[in-house]
Amino acid sequence: MSELPKIYLATSNAGKVREFREAAQALAITLAPLPGLAALPPAIENGATFAENARIKAEYYSRFAPGEIVLAEDSGLAVDALDGAPGVYSARYAAVLHSGVASHENSDDDANNLALVKQLKQLHGKNFTGRYICVIALARDGQILATFTGEAHGEMLTVPRGHQGFGYDPFFYFPALGKTFAELSLEQKREHSHRGKAIRHMLDWYSQRTKSGA
Ligand code: IMP
Repeated sequence: MSELPKIYLATSNAGKVREFREAAQALAITLAPLPGLAALPPAIENGATFAENARIKAEYYSRFAPGEIVLAEDSGLAVDALDGAPGVYSARYAAVLHSGVASHENSDDDANNLALVKQLKQLHGKNFTGRYICVIALARDGQILATFTGEAHGEMLTVPRGHQGFGYDPFFYFPALGKTFAELSLEQKREHSHRGKAIRHMLDWYSQRTKSGA
């Protein structure tokens, strides 16, 4: 596969940045942080789905890097017995539960995890299945080029395990490996995670596009 052109990464989430950097090294993608990202007003993530939010972010941030390809990503956790919550509110679950409205302020990982465990403990059923979803959107000059989705299926724990990863990882048990995502190396997480799968779909797309001369 020929090398991807340089792609600018529009995320400041440290956990995501770590995983994208590792993927870039392992998969020979040229990823660079979007210049000036920290100083930009954040995109308003008011979509109803991960795909809508990924597109909103990619369209918005790509306007700050004329002519370049910009990658934005939206992801989160959907617990079946919680009707898909935290869902698109994954980054701000504690704030949303606390205020009852769709807050735009992110909460920290500990607060979100505490909120999730509280909700899980209130469930009377024993079905704690959940999935992570990741949608990557590529855009140039405010126009979407393509989107890619990846999912990882697991079970939620109410007691944390492991210290790697970020977000809900210590509570996300992955039966196929008998470990939580917080017990995986970056390489293992890439192999099995929603984000790793979406990245591989993006590379497949690029290789097809190159073959067809687009
Ligand atoms: P976003 O930055 O608006 O896409 O929010 C993503 C949120 O979903 C993060 O802050 C985490 O709470 C959660 N999340 C997404 N991917 C992962 C993951 O790989 N591990 C743990 N939590 C994740």
